[in-house]
Amino acid sequence: MTEGEFCVVCGATDRPLVDGVCAECAADRTTLLSAPKRAVVTLCPHCGAREVGAHWDRQGTTAILTAEDLNPFLVVPAEVGVRRVEWDEISATATVREYLGHARVRFRGIERDVDVPLSVRTVHKSCPECSRRSGKYYTAIVQLRGPAEGRPEKAIPLRARLEEEWVRLVREMRPDWRKAVSWREELPEGWNCFFADSLAARSVAKLAKQRFGATLKESSSLVGRKNGQDLYRVTFCLRFPRRSTEDAHPVPADDVGGAVEQ
Ligand SMILES: [Zn+2]
Ligand SMILES: [Zn+2]
Repeated sequence: MTEGEFCVVCGATDRPLVDGVCAECAADRTTLLSAPKRAVVTLCPHCGAREVGAHWDRQGTTAILTAEDLNPFLVVPAEVGVRRVEWDEISATATVREYLGHARVRFRGIERDVDVPLSVRTVHKSCPECSRRSGKYYTAIVQLRGPAEGRPEKAIPLRARLEEEWVRLVREMRPDWRKAVSWREELPEGWNCFFADSLAARSVAKLAKQRFGATLKESSSLVGRKNGQDLYRVTFCLRFPRRSTEDAHPVPADDVGGAVEQ
């Protein structure tokens, strides 16, 4: 600094100045750290995952908010570096928690302690994975059944036989089709496989028809309206012919002839 210069605020002559003000005085007049009045953390009550933008991550995290949840809300000016932050929970209701962050920040070569209040509303929302697993979400059902005609099969061996067909089918599914399977239900007449994606369900049904000799019938029912669009749930009924023990392998695609329905 040029000799004779002094801080226009405190008059100190032994400190570096920016625009005539020393760092101490500038720090006093600057908001070194802040947080929005109200922050929102969206978390899955089942697995603890947090919704961050278009993604969900940190599955397996506890519902307790930690620095990992709170620090991203801090607004840090360009000239400020945050050395550390400790959060105290001041009060909590069912949905809103008040915190006070005690931060140590660096600003133009000096360090300061800053307290930052932060109010966080927690929103509980099932993540897509848990929605699928909890069985609340599906758009299509793939039904695995025995033949419509002929001698009825006993429930337990029929289900076991159809389970084998399913295992074969899963082996040939594309990974994204497999991911679309939400859950399955056992029924006396076979299995219902619930899909979170109708296109994947249709692909699986076609695969079963082409490669495993199943007959396929598709039907849909109107289940409601969303954003002005009709919502349909699609059902694909697959009927698997009985196999003799020698014929326990998938039917080659070129063997599937005109006998197959639809
Ligand atoms: Zn000063
Ligand atoms: Zn979850």
